[in-house]
Amino acid sequence: MKFCSQCGSHVELKIPAGDNRERYVCPSCGFIHYQNPLIVTGCVAEWEGKILLCRRAIEPRKGFWTVPAGFMENGETASAGAARETWEEALATVTTTTPLAIVDVVHAKQVHIFYRGVMDNGDFGAGAESLETQLMDEADIPWSEIAFPSVDYALRRYLEDRAAGVENMYETEIKWRRPK
Ligand code: ZN
Repeated sequence: MKFCSQCGSHVELKIPAGDNRERYVCPSCGFIHYQNPLIVTGCVAEWEGKILLCRRAIEPRKGFWTVPAGFMENGETASAGAARETWEEALATVTTTTPLAIVDVVHAKQVHIFYRGVMDNGDFGAGAESLETQLMDEADIPWSEIAFPSVDYALRRYLEDRAAGVENMYETEIKWRRPK
């Protein structure tokens, strides 16, 4: 950071009074520019036993596979953000249920949050940021072509839970949330 977003002056790197680490501080207006990790939110979405995966059309990791995920927006919950990303990247409507994984990505200054999700129907497609989208059987997941370690981690935890029969709990929760 070079310039103050409040007044346009050159900022200085210094420890503000009462703080314990360096921040970009504006010497003209006094504004302190805090820089903190960003939240990426996504979900492992399932339909009739298959997992929704997208092949990335954008860098980083263009051409590699991911679950729908992206930066959380102001004014939304992490869970709603995961559902929004699923629509934007995979043109699929999903009900996000319970938190699945929280992964610190310290080098990227991000925290990745993944939810479990159940697609509302079998419809999907390729959004603007996806080359293609597929519903895959577990056996067909291209583990060597997964875009990010956090996605690999979330997928493995999801499948481990499912193998242990945990998914029934989430189906129960969905029914509770959506009484017929
Ligand atoms: Zn300023």
